[in-house]
Amino acid sequence: PIMSTAEIRSAFLKFFEDKGCKLYPSSSLVPDDPSLLLANAGMNQFKEYYQGKKTMREIGATSCQKCVRTNDIDIIGADGRHASFFEMLGNFSFGGVSKEQACAWALELSTKVFKLPIERLYFTVFTDDDETFDIWRKLGVEESHISRLGEDDNFWAAGPTGPCGPCSEIYYDMGEHVGCGRPDCAPGCDCDRFLEYWNLVFTQFDRQEDGSMPELPHRNLDTGMGLERMSAIMQGKSSFFDSDIMQGLIKLGEEISGATYVSDDYTGPSRSLRIIADHARSVDFLISDGVLPGNEGRGYVLRRLLRRAVFHGRLLGVDGPFLGKFIDKVNELMGDAYPDLLKNVALVQGIVNAEEERFSTTLDNGRVYLDEALSKLAEGEALDGAAAFMLHDTFGFPIDLTVEIAEGAGHAVDIDGFNREMEAQRERARANVKGDAWGTFNDVWTELSDKLPATEFCGYDLETLEGARV
Ligand code: ATP
Ligand code: MG
Ligand code: MG
Ligand code: MG
Repeated sequence: PIMSTAEIRSAFLKFFEDKGCKLYPSSSLVPDDPSLLLANAGMNQFKEYYQGKKTMREIGATSCQKCVRTNDIDIIGADGRHASFFEMLGNFSFGGVSKEQACAWALELSTKVFKLPIERLYFTVFTDDDETFDIWRKLGVEESHISRLGEDDNFWAAGPTGPCGPCSEIYYDMGEHVGCGRPDCAPGCDCDRFLEYWNLVFTQFDRQEDGSMPELPHRNLDTGMGLERMSAIMQGKSSFFDSDIMQGLIKLGEEISGATYVSDDYTGPSRSLRIIADHARSVDFLISDGVLPGNEGRGYVLRRLLRRAVFHGRLLGVDGPFLGKFIDKVNELMGDAYPDLLKNVALVQGIVNAEEERFSTTLDNGRVYLDEALSKLAEGEALDGAAAFMLHDTFGFPIDLTVEIAEGAGHAVDIDGFNREMEAQRERARANVKGDAWGTFNDVWTELSDKLPATEFCGYDLETLEGARV
C-alpha cells in the first residue's frame, strides 16, 4: 500500500502501543545530557532507563524522535538516504522484551503492516552474533538473506561513553536499477540499493570513560527506524527526497530558483535543491528548539547548515533572502506533527533572516574581490591558491563557490595551492591552541573547521562521537 509519511508514523507508534509499549513524545533536539551535542537517536531520552537509574512500569516504550546528525554532511544531497534532520521511529525496552520478541515484532510490522515482501528484506548481524542469526532463521528468513557485518555497521553507541551494544539491521532491496550496479552489491554497500531502514540494538554494555565496558543491569532493546527511508520505500521512490514531505520543499526550491530537479541526478542543481530542502528542516527545528547561530557546539552546527543552504541558493542563482520561505514551507508540511514549530515562527524567521543577511554581505564583499582578481587573469589562467585562500579566510567564501564562479568566467582555481594555504593555517591554529584557537579563524563559515581538534569548538570529543556514528 502507498502510505503517507504521517500514516507511517502513526502506524508504527500504534503497532508498538498495541504491544504494550508506552508512547513518549520526541524529546527536544537539545538534549538534557552534557555528553551529547544534539539528539541523534530515539534512545537518547531513555539513557537513564538503560543505566538502571530509572524504571518503567510498561514492558517498553515507543517514540518518534527528531534527530540531527552532521556526520554525513558532505554526502547530503549526493545520495538518496542521508538527511541532516530526520525522524527516528523506535521501540525500546529495559529488560522487558527479549531479542526473539523484538525481532519478531520488527518482522511482523515490516511484512504484515507495511506489507513489504520478505524476498526483498535483508538482515545483518554483528560478526559473531550467532544468537541473532538463528533468531532470524527461525522466523523464516532465508539464510542467504542474512549476513554478518563488523563494528562499523553493527555495533552501536550513543556517544563516547554510555549504553552500547551489538546490532542487527534490516535492509530493503530498492531494486537493481538503484545504486552502484555492481554484481556484488550487498547490504553494507555504500550505495542506495540495499537501504538500511531499521536498526535493532541490543544495548548490553555501559562504556566508561576509561574504555571498559561493564554489562548494564538489563539486556536492553533500542531500535531505530528511519521515517524518511520508510516513506521512500512505501511510496515507491528510490530516494527519500522524492517522498511526500521532501517534495514540497524541492518544488519550492524549483519555483524560487527556476532550476529543474532531476530525481536521479545527484550533482549540480538537483543536489543543491536537496541540500536546501534538507538543511531548511534542520534550521527550523534547531532554532525552534532554542539553538542560536554561533561559533561553537550546537550554534556552530546550526550556522553551518544555515550558511550551506544560503550558499547553495547562490549556486542556483537565487539573490536576496529566500530561506524564510523554506521555513514557512517546513512549518506547513510538519506543523501538524510538531505543533511546537508553530509557536515561535516570528522569532525563528527573525533569526534566519539576520543570519542570512549577515552571510550574504560576506558573500557580496567576497564577490567584489573575486571579480577583480578574475579580471586581472589572462585567458585560461587559473586563479592562484593564495587568492582563493584569501576569499575563504577573510571573506568566508566557501571554496566550492569560488570554483563555481571562476569556472563561470572561464578560469580554473589552483586547488593544490589553496590546500597548502589551508594546511599552513591549520598549523598556525595548532600552534595557537593554548590561546583562543578561534581567534585565528574567520568567524564565518569554513567547511574545514570540523577538521580542527574537536575540543576547540565544543566541550567534548566530536571525533569519538563521529566514530560512534552519531
Ligand atoms: P547509515 O549506515 O545509512 O548511515 P546508520 O547505521 O548510521 O545509517 P543508525 O544509527 O543505525 O543509522 O540509525 C537507525 C536508523 O535511522 C537507520 O537504520 C536509518 O533508517 C535512520 N537514519 C540514520 N541516519 C540517517 C540519516 N542521516 N538520514 C536519514 N535516516 C537516517
Ligand atoms: Mg548503517
Ligand atoms: Mg545502523
Ligand atoms: Mg550513518
